[in-house]
Amino acid sequence: MSEVVNEQQPARTQGGPGTLYLCGTPIGNLEDVSQRVLRILRSVHTIAAEDTRHTRKLLSAYDIHTPLVSLHEHNEAARTPEVLRILGDGHDVALVSDAGMPGISDPGVYLVRACVAEGIPVVSVPGPSAFLTALAASGLPTERFTFEGFLPRRRKERRERLSQVRDLPHTLIFYEAPHRLRSALDDMREVLGDRWAVLARELTKLHEEYIRGPLSRLIEWCSTHAVRGEFVILVAGASPERVRAEAGDEELHEMLRRLLGDGMSVRDAVRTAAERLGVSKRRAYDVALRIEEEV
Ligand code: SAM
Repeated sequence: MSEVVNEQQPARTQGGPGTLYLCGTPIGNLEDVSQRVLRILRSVHTIAAEDTRHTRKLLSAYDIHTPLVSLHEHNEAARTPEVLRILGDGHDVALVSDAGMPGISDPGVYLVRACVAEGIPVVSVPGPSAFLTALAASGLPTERFTFEGFLPRRRKERRERLSQVRDLPHTLIFYEAPHRLRSALDDMREVLGDRWAVLARELTKLHEEYIRGPLSRLIEWCSTHAVRGEFVILVAGASPERVRAEAGDEELHEMLRRLLGDGMSVRDAVRTAAERLGVSKRRAYDVALRIEEEV
């Protein structure tokens, strides 16, 4: 039975199960792996890896020869009982994904849940995660944020998901594949408005860069560059003024519709609504025009 020696590890009860270690691995730069992760990968009985060929590169860079089994999106349910058996026999298992923290937009959640249900200890051994790495350098507020992971691939569902987060006042973070980046940004601009955003590209790698600006500028960047590599998209949260203004618009909309419906002229309806709600005539006029266009 292989044993992980560390005072900080959970105490093993005699004859009890092994521990599942969730090991964070580099998101590009092989130096970004902790001493602790390397020690655990070296000493566990088995490493369950999203892509064994990919993980082998990390292992060979550090001269680690622990046996690997594959555990990915498509075999997670089928492979889990096998991994549970190894753990049940008292052996430790490490779980790694291709990059970053397992379970974060990556396989692992199913296995973790199964271990929790079986009373098998689960220990998270932190390593890099692309969204936190990006957030820290984004320049956007970090005290509150919403991590949305990958947006749905279909446009309609993607827009629906974006509408759900439109009014959140905190930083929004998304993962996106390069070939869908442009369409995701287009939908963001339409649904969220032309907010300030950041593209964090190829983090920790040779061509790492941050592209900052309103969403329209990032869209322009996509048209003038070959969109290659890995991206995190960060978008500023809704400004409280905007959320209030839009909520206010509903009330304004309602009142103007009523006044116009009662036969009042646009000019009088705009003046009346602006006075009653304390908004500018200009704003009331814009809303009145929208109502006129609807009819
Ligand atoms: N488990 C990983 C983590 O903890 O960040 C995320 C895996 S998810 C399948 C892969 C996505 O993460 C990519 O499509 C990209 O959006 C983002 N990502 C991963 N590595 C990145 C990097 N080096 N630079 C920018 N984005 C990265």
